[in-house]
Amino acid sequence: MADRYYLNVMPDFVAENSQIIEEKQQEIISQGTQDSLLKLLSLPHSILSEQLKRTALDLKETIVVETWGLSGQRVEDFSLYCGSLGTAFLLFKSFQVTHNKIDLNLCSEIVKACNEASFQSRDVTFICGRAGVCALGAVVAKYRDDDQLLQYYITQFKEIKPSKDHPDELLYGRVGYLWACLFLNKHLGRETVPSSSMGSVVMEILNSGRKLGGKGGCPLMFEWYGEKYWGAAHGLAGIMHILMDFELRPDEREDVRGTLKYMIKNRFPGGNYPASEEDRKRDVLVHWCHGAPGIALTLVKAAEVFGDKEFLEAAMNAAEVVWNRGLLKRVGICHGISGNAYVFLSLYRLTGIVEYLYRAKAFACFLLDRAHMLMSSGEMHGGDAPFSLFEGVGGMAYLFLDMIQPSNARFPAYEL
Ligand SMILES: [Zn+2]
Repeated sequence: MADRYYLNVMPDFVAENSQIIEEKQQEIISQGTQDSLLKLLSLPHSILSEQLKRTALDLKETIVVETWGLSGQRVEDFSLYCGSLGTAFLLFKSFQVTHNKIDLNLCSEIVKACNEASFQSRDVTFICGRAGVCALGAVVAKYRDDDQLLQYYITQFKEIKPSKDHPDELLYGRVGYLWACLFLNKHLGRETVPSSSMGSVVMEILNSGRKLGGKGGCPLMFEWYGEKYWGAAHGLAGIMHILMDFELRPDEREDVRGTLKYMIKNRFPGGNYPASEEDRKRDVLVHWCHGAPGIALTLVKAAEVFGDKEFLEAAMNAAEVVWNRGLLKRVGICHGISGNAYVFLSLYRLTGIVEYLYRAKAFACFLLDRAHMLMSSGEMHGGDAPFSLFEGVGGMAYLFLDMIQPSNARFPAYEL
């Protein structure tokens, strides 16, 4: 099993220590050793976040060259997941942190190219579809005070409608479309996408979930390519996560709540979660897409929305699994260390418990200290699209930028 992840030998907690810094600041410690990692872990936040920021901004430049410059500014994969829109989203994040207009303008240029590349696409979600292109395009146009372009993207967005053939899940389905609507409304104002049009999509999701649910003890159940997934990318966790953003009727709220309780009741004894109903015996995956990390983020939200102690406890239990088995031999957001760090950030935001902030910092410091080295030597998988947001180092750069103000961190394109 340990071929999937590194044994986590980092201390359970290291207090920040500014004295050590003054003494050791000048000392040269070679990277990738227990000493270099411990030194990073004891750095005061102000110094560490400066290092993370510098690394993230350098990495962003490399990512732009690799995914945009070297391709002659042509878009092959427009998606946010592994394609050009992921680079644009990273540039937008960078702009939000540094207020550097060059990043915002470049982001806008890349979105334009993604817009042209996605005209024929039938995919309707934020992460893998055209809704992500038009939604980000509109928001970036607003920040650039380009009202004409803003109206253009909103008009384009409103032409996107999920059909009966679309699934319900996050990457290709209805909740992925709804997330794009929520993103627009967050940045442009509440009724940019009217609640009535989102409400009918919510209704379709609940109807489809009730058709497959109920009988087996889980009120809502969904299928994607014939499998009943549980995780954030294709299954229950992702669908419940988005449904909780809407005002539901009491019976609908109870179905969402009951679905999450069913998952908690049927998790593995060690605290991890199955990838699907069909795969209830294989306790292997500790990813955002499948397993405890993605489900933990949904449980954190459930604790906020419903106030049940059971959800907070389950989220904390899932975070233990992520700490022990989530230091994956992969770098990305979807199934890598960068994505798993967000579990701790999310729990820190909810509880204010400083140990969670430390754990997020520990995962980030592990990457800062040795990701590059481990990927060069082939001991860590850099992803099939190595500069992408969801599978590659784009996700790591995004995490480093989020670590600067950890209480405002949000899992990209998932936590609003
Ligand atoms: Zn994944």
